[in-house]
Amino acid sequence: MTMCAPSAPPGADVVIIGGGVIGSAIATFLGREGGCRVTVVERDPTYATASSSLSGSSIRQQFSTGVNIALSQYGISFLRDAASHLTVDGDTPALALREPGYLYLATAAGLPVLETNHAVQRRHGVAVALLGPAELGERFPWLSTEGVAGGSLGLDGEGWFDGPALMQAFRRKARSLGAAYIHGEAVAVEREGARVSAVRLADGSRIACGAVVNAAGPRARAVAAMAGVHVPVEARKRCVFIVACPDALPGCPLVVDTSGVWFRPEGNRFLAGWSPPEDAEDFGLEVDHGVFDDVIWPALAARVPAFERLRGHGAWAGHYEYNTFDQNALLGPHPELPNFYAANGFSGHGMQQSPGVGRGMAEMILHGEYRTLDLSDLDVGRVAAGRPFRELNVI
Ligand SMILES: Cc1cc2nc3c(=O)[nH]c(=O)nc-3n(C[C@H](O)[C@H](O)[C@H](O)COP(=O)(O)OP(=O)(O)OC[C@H]3O[C@@H](n4cnc5c(N)ncnc54)[C@H](O)[C@@H]3O)c2cc1C
Repeated sequence: MTMCAPSAPPGADVVIIGGGVIGSAIATFLGREGGCRVTVVERDPTYATASSSLSGSSIRQQFSTGVNIALSQYGISFLRDAASHLTVDGDTPALALREPGYLYLATAAGLPVLETNHAVQRRHGVAVALLGPAELGERFPWLSTEGVAGGSLGLDGEGWFDGPALMQAFRRKARSLGAAYIHGEAVAVEREGARVSAVRLADGSRIACGAVVNAAGPRARAVAAMAGVHVPVEARKRCVFIVACPDALPGCPLVVDTSGVWFRPEGNRFLAGWSPPEDAEDFGLEVDHGVFDDVIWPALAARVPAFERLRGHGAWAGHYEYNTFDQNALLGPHPELPNFYAANGFSGHGMQQSPGVGRGMAEMILHGEYRTLDLSDLDVGRVAAGRPFRELNVI
């Protein structure tokens, strides 16, 4: 039997607060290794407002830091091989993985950043091509290259998949490996000095434990506060619009326009969205239709002339669990509370990082160290230490 790390005594309960894709991925990998009893506390088992239900569910290799690239390299291999990782009782999850790539477009002013990122990506083995406007026009005849100085196209391991199906598959797998899912809301985390010792639920029940994982998505700050620590995570509303285009756009990847507007195919329609440069915490879920009229539609029509005749087919809003400190995941034990773990702040890339984060967090909880992929650049302790670790490619 695997021994739990000193932070979680052998055989102790690990309580995971939040059973979305991150909490369920951690529960799965803890179950795979064995050695701890795992309880997942989830306030809403319908997941109606969870980020994992409202995600764009895309995966890219084009990050600006080695650790995020490595997480995506593992993420794509995991998704491609989901059958061997996530099958339960012969039932294999259908994740509908497609890999048409990401295309980042840059103006002349933005080109140096694209080139710097390109060099980082190549150093880490990412198959990515820098294309000039003529090559872009040749490859994607439906694309206007007006104002475009270059584009970075991912050639392998980038695309999209059914994120909610991945979350459910992790949940199912975790349960098959022994995790108990409890329908309840964590309202307090008890401490004995510099250790957490129990989680209290809204119905008055109490779960004694050897370790707690904060996997509460956009509510991570509130859960951290229950234990008396801080994570700089805010809920930031992001809207996704569904449109139909009268023309086919052959080979269309996920395009990130120079305006910051992104779009990608979804079946015979397209999804499109945009992250406002400045916004504040917002737990609302109403769609900002003005964003579509004022920002998204004009950008789409300028970049793809066929989109001038697009038709709207709906929209939804969800929450990024936005790390205001440096827009990267916050992982691992809190420095002042070593058996309280963060798995927070993914800022728009938690779905694709869930396999690598699940595996790494299980290693850290069970062994006190990362054993496969070193995730220490993402250590939550960097916040208190005032050492930001920035990701430049945030969509
Ligand atoms: C519009 C949109 C587009 C996105 N696009 C992408 C993308 O293309 N690629 C990508 O990788 N990522 C994307 N993301 C981000 C990704 O979806 C998230 O990073 C990921 O789903 C986070 O998972 P989570 O488990 O941390 O959070 P959640 O899925 O929100 O799960 C947290 C769970 O914790 C529960 N909870 C909270 N507080 C408590 C409590 N006190 N007690 C009990 N339970 C509690 C909640 O009910 C919830 O179910 C997108 C997100 C949005 C909103």
